[in-house]
Amino acid sequence: MPAQAEGKTAAPALSAPQKALHRLGLVRDIDLALHLPLRYEDETRIVSLRGARDGQLAQIEGTVTNSEISFRPRRQLLVTLDDGTDTCTLRFFTFYPAHQKTLAVGARVRVRGELRGGFLGWTMVHPAFHAAGGELPDALTPVYPTSAQLPQAYLRKVVASGLRRADLGENLPPALLGGLNAVVRGTWTLRDALQFLHHPGADVSLDALEDRSHPAWQRLKAEELLAQQLSQFTARQERAALSAPALIAQPGGLHEQLLGVLPFALTTAQRRVGEEIARDLMRQIPMHRLLQGDVGSGKTVVAALAAAIAIDAGWQCALMAPTEILAEQHFAKLIGWLEPLLTPLGKRVAWLTGSQKKKQRGEMLALIASGEAALVVGTHAVIQDQVVFQNLALAIIDEQHRFGVAQRLALRSKMGSGMTEGEPHLLMMTATPIPRTLAMSYYADLDVSTIDELPPGRTPIVTKVVADSRRAEVVERIRSQVAQGRQVYWVCPLIEESEALDLSNATATHAELSQSLPGVLVGLLHSRMPVAEKKAVMSLFTGGEMGVLVSTTVIEVGVDVPNASLMVIEHAERFGLSQLHQLRGRVGRGAAASACVLLYTPPDSGRLGETARERLKAMAETNDGFEIARRDLEIRGPGEFLGARQSGAPLLRFADLATDTHLLEWARAAAPVMLAEHPQQAEKHIARWLGGRAEFLKA
Ligand code: ADP
Ligand code: MG
Repeated sequence: MPAQAEGKTAAPALSAPQKALHRLGLVRDIDLALHLPLRYEDETRIVSLRGARDGQLAQIEGTVTNSEISFRPRRQLLVTLDDGTDTCTLRFFTFYPAHQKTLAVGARVRVRGELRGGFLGWTMVHPAFHAAGGELPDALTPVYPTSAQLPQAYLRKVVASGLRRADLGENLPPALLGGLNAVVRGTWTLRDALQFLHHPGADVSLDALEDRSHPAWQRLKAEELLAQQLSQFTARQERAALSAPALIAQPGGLHEQLLGVLPFALTTAQRRVGEEIARDLMRQIPMHRLLQGDVGSGKTVVAALAAAIAIDAGWQCALMAPTEILAEQHFAKLIGWLEPLLTPLGKRVAWLTGSQKKKQRGEMLALIASGEAALVVGTHAVIQDQVVFQNLALAIIDEQHRFGVAQRLALRSKMGSGMTEGEPHLLMMTATPIPRTLAMSYYADLDVSTIDELPPGRTPIVTKVVADSRRAEVVERIRSQVAQGRQVYWVCPLIEESEALDLSNATATHAELSQSLPGVLVGLLHSRMPVAEKKAVMSLFTGGEMGVLVSTTVIEVGVDVPNASLMVIEHAERFGLSQLHQLRGRVGRGAAASACVLLYTPPDSGRLGETARERLKAMAETNDGFEIARRDLEIRGPGEFLGARQSGAPLLRFADLATDTHLLEWARAAAPVMLAEHPQQAEKHIARWLGGRAEFLKA
């Protein structure tokens, strides 16, 4: 007997419909019970033909008065049904002798389908039918989301039996039920709610079912949100059981020295979040904090201060950024700030990137392994296998939404050979603020610090939405900005299908601007350029010699050139809202008045689409990243926000964060109580709702 089979009975082979069920995620009884109808069909009534409407989905009953096979235009069975008020022709293109028998002249049948009125009277094509008689059902008939391999009738049967068998016992302790019933506005058990939603009575308002405001829906959504909160609180508890080095800021230490050499004073918000981070670092529990702040709010210096605390305590710190340009900017800035303070201590800042020469890379790896590199800045290269830290205590991830779960986990696992146990502290940064409802739900296991104020002396950016037909005026504007010693970004359209088109567009614009702006150095930056060339262009722009930088969206995140005062975005209608906001944030970083021009090209058919107009309008109306994020959530829904964080993880199936805030707030308050007082019920509840998928939520 092969070793593998020992002690195991072979799993029975799955039938085709079972496989189709599995593909829809319908494995356990509870999965079937939670597979809710898309809509309902009303088979509770018989419609009379005289009172029927064209196009109505109707059930009729009558006597067959004629049945014949016709061959024109193609072979078909034509059956005439008389219900006493009118007649209807039933057409079947495929049929079997058994069908003909049921539909024989003189038989009474019940038929359901879409009624079509017309020149020849009522017709129905391929209606469902059976011999008349039998009671009418007293509940609406559910129509389930399904796939081609899974007939509706079969699915109805397995869902009904799943619903019967599933363990739907009450998970909620009595103490929490009162509060639940209040927010749900009704006393529904899960079992009643599901029974009702699968088979609602004929008299039920379809509107309340459709918009999910019905208390049965509310109960279901509250349960789902509770499961999500429970799993996140559990993840938080598990993390609290891990250990991390306590990093305590010393008076007069490195971070205070850094504050002393900065060319500016911190804003109140920067100081506040800095303290929140410092408090986390002091604890022997790994920090798991998200630092959010609008573009230009000054997150980098906050990260540098955290790094200084870790380094001062004798540990290493790593900072990872999503693109090479961004990583390089951080590197330049951090070297400028920190290296003068580190050199006397015999420590250095190391630099790691994919494009590095082998020799240089080898040197950097050695510095990191020996611990001489107190700070390591780089791209994804930082998490590669060859990188071995001596003792990593703090990992900082910039623009965290650009990284996947796996990459974050990789950084966390790089504690280093000098460490015996534990995990590094983790600080994630983002310029895409997370709307409150998302922070409360999907991100409930994170601590969030927010920089809600920009450094002083910045003038708000004025945003103009301009038709591409007025391009010449925009070029004039560029000319005058450059004449005043300012610099300009011109971002070319995003053409998702084709990088090549992206590029040809940027190249054309670059040529156009070079020609219409004689005497101005116009540069071109795109993702396909060799890294060295990119760097050369970037350094001309950063140094101020280059007046205009034409680029594809590679400058999207984090680039910092305070002298730039005008941002032109071509085909702005193609960009997402948060992306537009990020791009706009490249200007308005110095004291000069800044502007953003959103050039749009209406399609040949005339007006821009609704959502594109909404996005441009939002941009013109507000500079506030939180407001932008809120509107973005409204326009796109949560899926896009979560990005890589949630890949593979369950999104909420039933609850809708835009309408169910009251349920979310209840779940958030109930979860810790349930975990503390009824841990077994809590575990049962998570299993019911999330099955094996809860793990994903923890990264
Ligand atoms: P972001 O939050 O988008 O990463 P940065 O950290 O790049 O922003 O900071 C934007 C610019 O503001 C940088 O030039 C930075 O040096 C500067 N800056 C940061 N904090 C302050 C401050 N408190 N006062 C003045 N300038 C600041
Ligand atoms: Mg930044």
